[in-house]
Amino acid sequence: MSDCLFCKISRGEIPADVVYKDDDCIAFRDISPKAPVHLLVIPHKHIENLYDLRKEDADLMARILLTLPKIARQQGLGSGFRTVTNTGHDGGQEVFHLHFHLLGGGSLHSL
Ligand code: 5GP
Ligand code: ZN
Repeated sequence: MSDCLFCKISRGEIPADVVYKDDDCIAFRDISPKAPVHLLVIPHKHIENLYDLRKEDADLMARILLTLPKIARQQGLGSGFRTVTNTGHDGGQEVFHLHFHLLGGGSLHSL
């Protein structure tokens, strides 16, 4: 999926404010933040969304899940954060490359 926006960000072809990167995933600031900290955490691998996951992606997904709290702590979110994943048009997904919104900074009770 060479024309995918998030694939291009993953490959460094489109600039993004990258805060974390490893062999599995990259985390960068959302261009339109909905919270003081609003990151998008994406696998380098092009997976459209949760519907598109295959059994062979299980280890990758587990490693990324384990990485989310690590990134959150690095961002100073030691007392809580929110993850959101929109799936499909009716789920509000706009960019069809799997991503976890990681939101935090201040209380999210009212959001
Ligand atoms: P979705 O609606 O698919 O769950 O979320 C897509 C997110 O990507 C939105 O929050 C939107 O602000 C963000 N976004 C869209 N285009 C860009 C971009 O070019 N750069 C960055 N950093 N974020 C983007
Ligand atoms: Zn992609």
